Amino acid sequence: MPESMEISDAAKSGDGSVNNVGIKMTGKFKCPDCSQKFDSVKAKELHWKFIHDPTRHQED
Ligand SMILES: [Zn+2]
Repeated sequence: MPESMEISDAAKSGDGSVNNVGIKMTGKFKCPDCSQKFDSVKAKELHWKFIHDPTRHQED
């Protein structure tokens, strides 16, 4: 159960808020549309496309 290990570790090292469990709070690149942070622009863009991009449901 490596996932439960990660979650409990994140809960311990996080800011204590349930909302932030599992969300990285230490990255340099903050998503403009939510409070998640990422270690690289690419990670941030991937997150944004996956979570926030309004066009992602359309077929190209
Ligand atoms: Zn976001």
